[in-house]
Amino acid sequence: MDGCIFCKIVDKQIPSRIVYEDDSILAFHDIDPKAPVHVLVIPKQHITSINEVTQENSQVIAHIFATMPKIAQQLGIKDSGYRVVVNCGKDAGQAVNHLHYHVLGGRSLTWPPG
Ligand code: AMP
Ligand code: ZN
Repeated sequence: MDGCIFCKIVDKQIPSRIVYEDDSILAFHDIDPKAPVHVLVIPKQHITSINEVTQENSQVIAHIFATMPKIAQQLGIKDSGYRVVVNCGKDAGQAVNHLHYHVLGGRSLTWPPG
C-alpha cells in the first residue's frame, strides 16, 4: 500500500526493532512506548483496520493470536501479564491505518483505558 508506514516497515524501507517475523506477520517495538514493553504486531498484508477484516483475510488474525504467547514469552511478560489493544478509527485514535495489535506489559496497567 503506497505511503503506508507499516507496509514500509514490512518491506524494510523503514528500520524497526523487530522482535518476531514470519511469512505473514511482523512484531516490532513501538517507537513511542507507553509501557516498559510495547510491541506492535501486524499482518504483513495491508489491512487498514478491524473494519476491513473479512472471512477471506481473517486467517492471519488467528495466526497473530496463536503467535502472541510466543512473542510475550520472548519479551518476558507472558506470566506477569500484558494487554492487547487495537484502535479502530477516529474515536479510538487510530493513527496508522494498517491494522496493528499493541502488546503492552512490564508494569501494572490501569483499567479502564481513557
Ligand atoms: P495507533 O494510534 O493505534 O494507530 O498506534 C500507532 C502506533 O504506531 C503508535 O503507538 C506509534 O508510536 C507507533 N509508531 C508510529 N510510527 C512508528 C515507527 N516508525 N516504528 C514503530 N512504531 C511506530
Ligand atoms: Zn500498510
